[in-house]
Amino acid sequence: MSNTRQEEVNGILNETRMTIHKHEMGAEDFQTLCGLTYHLEHGQLRMIQIKRAIGELDANKCGRCFEDGRGY
Ligand SMILES: [Zn+2]
Repeated sequence: MSNTRQEEVNGILNETRMTIHKHEMGAEDFQTLCGLTYHLEHGQLRMIQIKRAIGELDANKCGRCFEDGRGY
């Protein structure tokens, strides 16, 4: 399914902390792998390409979602 690739590319950005999380596979909502954002308002979260969030917005990778990430 072409869907699978899309989910690997996209992440969930926490705009308050500028942290990028991995989107949980198969989840319909703004659900992240680490679950740290589940309590946040949807207005604080944005689905965005992971490389764009890092390259253009200088976001930090979530340390729980990414092995090479730091902070959360
Ligand atoms: Zn995370």
